[in-house]
Amino acid sequence: LAQLFRPLDMLGMVYREIRQGLIDMEAMFKLVDTPPEVVDQAGAPDLHVAGGALRFEDVRFAYDPDRPILKGVSFAIPAGGTLAVVGPSGAGKSTLARLIYRFYEVTGGRITIDGQDIRAVSQASLRRAIGIVPQDTVLFNDTIGYNIAYGRDGAGQDEVEAAAKGAAIDGFIRSLPQGYDTRVGERGLKLSGGEKQRVAIARTLLKNPPILILDEATSALDSRTEDEIQTTLDAISERRTTIIIAHRLSTVVHADEIVVLDAGRVVERGSHAALLEARGIYAEMWARQQAERAAELVEEA
Ligand code: ADP
Ligand code: MG
Repeated sequence: LAQLFRPLDMLGMVYREIRQGLIDMEAMFKLVDTPPEVVDQAGAPDLHVAGGALRFEDVRFAYDPDRPILKGVSFAIPAGGTLAVVGPSGAGKSTLARLIYRFYEVTGGRITIDGQDIRAVSQASLRRAIGIVPQDTVLFNDTIGYNIAYGRDGAGQDEVEAAAKGAAIDGFIRSLPQGYDTRVGERGLKLSGGEKQRVAIARTLLKNPPILILDEATSALDSRTEDEIQTTLDAISERRTTIIIAHRLSTVVHADEIVVLDAGRVVERGSHAALLEARGIYAEMWARQQAERAAELVEEA
């Protein structure tokens, strides 16, 4: 009888592994409720990425019909361009990222990549094209090497290590007793917020997607590590379409365009210089952060 049940046991195991993957993925996006299922249209073709031009056309969205979160957001990022999104917490910035990844469907307007409505293409092809470094990374209960390799099927150990180097975490991993084979997550080594963030960056470097979304990707890092990684992020965003969601404005100064999102609306847009000149919300945020930075420097001295 035991013989008979072994295959079922195996199935249960596989099922649990898959479920765990899904749970991790949801937690990665800080989803509190189970999202309504996003289903592919019958026979949906794959997304065809030409250069990765990304457009939001009057995008509206609500998690709960009574409470609109995005109230008509429009912007266009040309292929290879960089857009920065800044604004107070709760403005809807991370929601933009979740919509591009199609974790949720827009409730109005549309999002296109190289002219294709993302609702009309297969989710798998869409998600292959996009790399997200989320605000909070949840790791799989597996080795740290696996957590990086997960970025791309069939990646070799040398590629995993190169990605780890790019994310400034290779040295840390080597210092662990079991190196890349060290288990992490709930059932293993606990990593700090900054270390997890670097694992997520390594994963994304390995994935090497044409479209990159950095959602406060360096917020948990100390300023020295942030500088170190910022150089890498600048280099990889140069050759691909990038959205930088940032709290620290110092990281968005060089973006082609900056949009200020407030309560689900774009309230200002332009280059860093133009926005400073406009003396609006952005200029105010900038002045405040500069003052904070100066105070920190005085404290450090
Ligand atoms: P930001 O990234 O700018 O801080 P978010 O996009 O995370 O803002 O959130 C925008 C608003 O949507 C917030 O008011 C938040 O509480 C709400 N929200 C975020 N996720 C969910 C969810 N899964 N269900 C319901 N409301 C949510
Ligand atoms: Mg956010």
